[in-house]
Amino acid sequence: MSEGTDTEIRRLDSATVERIAAGEVVERPASVVKELVENALDADADRVSVAVEQGGIEGIKVTDDGIGMSREAVERAVEEHTTSKISSIEDLERGVGTLGFRGEALHAIGAVSRTTITTRPRGREHQGTELVVEGGDVTAVEPAGCPAGTTIEVDDLFYNVPARRKYLKQTSTEFAHVNTVVTSYALANPDVAVTLSHDGRETFATTGQGDLEATVLSVYGRDVAQSMIEVDDGDLPDGPLESVTGLVSHPETNRASRDYLSTYVNGRYVRADAVREAIVDAYDTQLAPDRYPFAVLFCAVDPATVDVNVHPRKMEVRFADDEGVRRQVEHAVQSALLSEGLVRSSAPRG
Ligand code: ADP
Ligand code: MG
Repeated sequence: MSEGTDTEIRRLDSATVERIAAGEVVERPASVVKELVENALDADADRVSVAVEQGGIEGIKVTDDGIGMSREAVERAVEEHTTSKISSIEDLERGVGTLGFRGEALHAIGAVSRTTITTRPRGREHQGTELVVEGGDVTAVEPAGCPAGTTIEVDDLFYNVPARRKYLKQTSTEFAHVNTVVTSYALANPDVAVTLSHDGRETFATTGQGDLEATVLSVYGRDVAQSMIEVDDGDLPDGPLESVTGLVSHPETNRASRDYLSTYVNGRYVRADAVREAIVDAYDTQLAPDRYPFAVLFCAVDPATVDVNVHPRKMEVRFADDEGVRRQVEHAVQSALLSEGLVRSSAPRG
């Protein structure tokens, strides 16, 4: 035993524990936006509007016309580990139909910001509630006049976690992340009218009319929309994926960033590197190095062959048969390009 190296092991106070845990869920404004938009979609909203100030660092406001919450429900919702979406681990094993289910987002967001929730259940006039939570403490719960649905306003993110706040990037970078998140959910939900605005200026607004092409037009504009080619998996080779459908851009419509590769597994927006890389591979030499196409690609797979819990916040997934997935996606995208006379499948690899 050496002397003089006595380490004092202390139990952290609960406020500190809470902020550390919150940091696991809330990394930056875009992670708040992701959680709030998922909740709005889970609440069966037809319209979701997202307004952020200064890249979301100063303020985030998400409004939906979904089912809303009663006073009791909203008080419960900001507590730890509260969810209306599952009740046991068995529910999880049966497969979850909602985007959220961990019951930690609202609690975590409330712990590291000043958050105001205004909400009223559908069909219940005069039963709105406004709840304010500041740094984890509920400081007000009042009746409020408001439309049916929910508005959540998150101000001063990380005001009580200076180390985190300092770590945030320029507002333009933070806004780029917010834009990627909202865009991805808008593209996957063409039947929901999604709007995004930054410092009072509208970035995009989708119509909610249920058409993927129209949604791409609203989000990315005419030039990109006109260059999109349909991926239709008529002759998908055998493999783990049951289908691969969506839109990819003509190779001349490309960007120096992977941010425009939106990939979904069983309707869920995920970062599936196997899928993203296979899309790019399909273009072969048609793309210059470090240039990437636009893609909105939906893969359907037997849930038993994909692990979605690699890291919930990072939205990564892992396939049991990664190679099989790559082969199928590359084939589907290549067939789409080929149908436009763009890529010869026998082209030598560059
Ligand atoms: P989770 O989504 O994992 O259940 P959250 O912390 O994100 O956990 O939300 C907690 C609960 O609050 C949800 O289960 C839901 O019942 C309710 N809730 C949150 N946001 C909304 C919303 N926009 N509309 C209606 N209910 C909501
Ligand atoms: Mg949630």
